[in-house]
Amino acid sequence: MRHKTREVTIGDLAVGGRNPVIVQSMTTTDTRDFDATIAEIRALEEAQCEMVRVAFLNKKSYDSLVEIKRLTKIPLIVDIHFTAELALLAMEAGADKIRINPGNLGGLGKLDKILEMARNKGVAIRIGVNSGSVEKDLLDKYGYPCPDAIVESAMRWVEYCESKKFENLVLSLKSSNVQTSIQSYQKISKLCDYPLHVGITEAGMGEYAKIKSAVGIGSLLTQGIGDTIRCSIVGDPVEEIKTCYNILKSTGVRVLEPELIACPTCGRIQIDLEKLVHEVEEKMKGIKETIKISVLGCPVNGPGEAREADLGIAGGNGKGWVYRDGEVIRTVKEEELLDALMEEVDIWKQEQVKNG
Ligand code: SF4
Repeated sequence: MRHKTREVTIGDLAVGGRNPVIVQSMTTTDTRDFDATIAEIRALEEAQCEMVRVAFLNKKSYDSLVEIKRLTKIPLIVDIHFTAELALLAMEAGADKIRINPGNLGGLGKLDKILEMARNKGVAIRIGVNSGSVEKDLLDKYGYPCPDAIVESAMRWVEYCESKKFENLVLSLKSSNVQTSIQSYQKISKLCDYPLHVGITEAGMGEYAKIKSAVGIGSLLTQGIGDTIRCSIVGDPVEEIKTCYNILKSTGVRVLEPELIACPTCGRIQIDLEKLVHEVEEKMKGIKETIKISVLGCPVNGPGEAREADLGIAGGNGKGWVYRDGEVIRTVKEEELLDALMEEVDIWKQEQVKNG
């Protein structure tokens, strides 16, 4: 069951509460470079990114930031470190949320000004604590940035914001260590109900980064923890979005497209399964419904495996079987299997429409 959090509004998007887990990413461009940054945002929007973060390093990015905000359809988060004045400028430029580490902005007086302006403008703030930003006194107390230190640091800032009557908060407690991240999020989810932005920071490159993100974010999502997610992967941020949606789909937390289940094949294989899986995958591309389809290499486990899916197919020795809810509903020639499946998908879709 999902951990109960309060709802926070970011631009026109509600985060936390009963709202879907939101997918976000961050641009890799220099924000001063308007053309490159807006091109990346366009690509992210196209990939169904729902919130985008840009870095705001210095005042030279201000004009570009104003223009980026004007042309960005999804909520814009601005990431600020070290200079409180930039947080004020980001809000002036129209940021829907700012991401800060309150400990590195030059003192509480400066933080107070940020909170006041955010309150007046209805801007949300993400307090982003990670293992590298834990304060010295907490490092002395705990010896290293362990989950307790990360959580105490975050709660310290939460309590400070609350004392200033500012509660429009989202929290993140990322570490590049999966276990530290998981334990930190588990602990803080017991201490407060602010929406949690979940991720594994600096996950690395390529396949390993995707697996690391999936293990960390996926573990938390299966425990009902996480209101927005980001995969931190080196390279094109569109890959982050694809990975986020695959994590949401594989955990069953948010499914927006068909799911294909395929057996890994084994010595019992009696059909060119790889070719068949690719063909089914191609056919699934135009389908918006969240149908689950299994493709199996032989009838041995067909009924059992297909029970997990809405529709399934298995083939062998020139024959093919179409399953629905685990029961064989059609037996066809092997070469007719794909067409038979697609006919049954159409029937399934029509029934969904009829049944509302
Ligand atoms: S479905 Fe058949 S071919 Fe596929 S893994 Fe299972 S036993 Fe092997």
